[in-house]
Amino acid sequence: MSPGIAALRDVDPGRDVVLMAEVAEEATHVRHHPQKIVLFLSAMRHFAAELERSGLRVDYVRLDDPGNTGTLGGEVARAVARHGAGSVVTTEAGEWRLAADMRGWERAAGVPVEIREDDRFLCPHAAFAAWAEGRKAFRMEHFYRVMRTRTGILMDGDRPAGGRWNFDAENRRRLPDDVEPPAVPAVEPDAVTGEVIALVRERFPGHFGDLDGFGYAVTRADAEALWERFVVERLPRFGDYQDAMARGRPFLFHAVVAPYLNLGLLDARTMLARVERAWRDGAVPLNAAEGFVRQILGWREYVRGIYWHQGPGYARRNAFGADRALPGFFWSGDTDMACLAECIGDTRRHAYAHHIQRLMVIGNFALLIGADPDAVNRWYLEVYADAVEWVQLPNTHGMALHADGGLLGSKPYAASGRYIQRMSDYCERCRYRPDEAVGPKACPFNALYWRFLARNRDRLAGNPRLAMPYRTLDRFAAARRDALLEQAERFLETLD
Ligand code: SF4
Repeated sequence: MSPGIAALRDVDPGRDVVLMAEVAEEATHVRHHPQKIVLFLSAMRHFAAELERSGLRVDYVRLDDPGNTGTLGGEVARAVARHGAGSVVTTEAGEWRLAADMRGWERAAGVPVEIREDDRFLCPHAAFAAWAEGRKAFRMEHFYRVMRTRTGILMDGDRPAGGRWNFDAENRRRLPDDVEPPAVPAVEPDAVTGEVIALVRERFPGHFGDLDGFGYAVTRADAEALWERFVVERLPRFGDYQDAMARGRPFLFHAVVAPYLNLGLLDARTMLARVERAWRDGAVPLNAAEGFVRQILGWREYVRGIYWHQGPGYARRNAFGADRALPGFFWSGDTDMACLAECIGDTRRHAYAHHIQRLMVIGNFALLIGADPDAVNRWYLEVYADAVEWVQLPNTHGMALHADGGLLGSKPYAASGRYIQRMSDYCERCRYRPDEAVGPKACPFNALYWRFLARNRDRLAGNPRLAMPYRTLDRFAAARRDALLEQAERFLETLD
């Protein structure tokens, strides 16, 4: 939804027609959260109206239009015939499935199809490939420094601003009782969004997620206003509390703008410049500005690079041979593990959970129980409003599940209940105790953590970042180790 997107760059209002199509395949190839479908469709309808206001001819195919073929390729072919078009120009897809489909459009439509690179990203495919050339394992930190140097963002000459590349150590505070994060404003649905909500209710019943309370922005103006509120109200403390989790406060100091960025309602370069300006003006501390820049210029570009560089074989890796079905409570939130109930509940209510909830609670649990990576990937792709495959898959498959065997990250993000206790208030109302590992009240994460390390010793024991936990495991008496493993197995039986 960017007027400056590659496909529109040289559009001629007197000659060209802009095709936009709502197709069932894109909404149903996985069962997306209803709020995500509303967000996408309503943003598309608003964007079409904006293009028309700017003088362009838009051919907009609605989901319920008679004759809608249900696929983008089908709609391109129909539109070519309808308008007698001599050629098609599009911007590259955001996932392998659609990219493969696009390669067949030329044959189906019978006219040349030009697929342009999406230059809203800061690292073109060729630049990532050049960086990746010859590397056996990739590390975000190295890529990020290259990107900082190349773009000059948060740089003073050839040195990182403040003399350090990384302020992570200052970004791990628990939320104190007396700090109340400012609310993230909800955008009142207008008539267009109301119509889409009704359509989604009717067409996609039974998808996981609440539709009541939909409050996402669906226009660039609203997304930009929400972004500016974040910069002024929450960014100053974003760094301090970016890893914190708290009951009833799903958004904390997070930006909640990834859906807008991925949809093209916000622009990454503009956002980075705004954050840098806020720091240089003294409005936000460097640990907050750097923490945010790291997410957009670092992680986001890095995982996209890996997604396209690796190709579909990446998703078939399964380093730990994990094959357990996802427990039913991933769809209901009905579990007495308070942390999972809260994070899945946030996801159901908002199509959102912040990155530590996704990584260190839900992803950590899926990793420790040995959940089938395909099932976990699918779940993440379905339930989050910002989940498009190029960003979701490397984050889930590589970072959370380590299913790629360490290609993307240097260690699995496995953690016991102690981590969750340290970073949240979830444990305070849980029937389990985070400081117990064996017995009826023991936090399940604890025994699962030790079982995970014990089971994957061959693969992980040589990792220097895991040397300490392995030393601890090896110091346990045999009886203690046996009790932990038995505790874990008993818990896993309850999932089956
Ligand atoms: Fe989660 Fe364990 Fe804490 Fe309960 S005690 S909230 S299961 S980490």
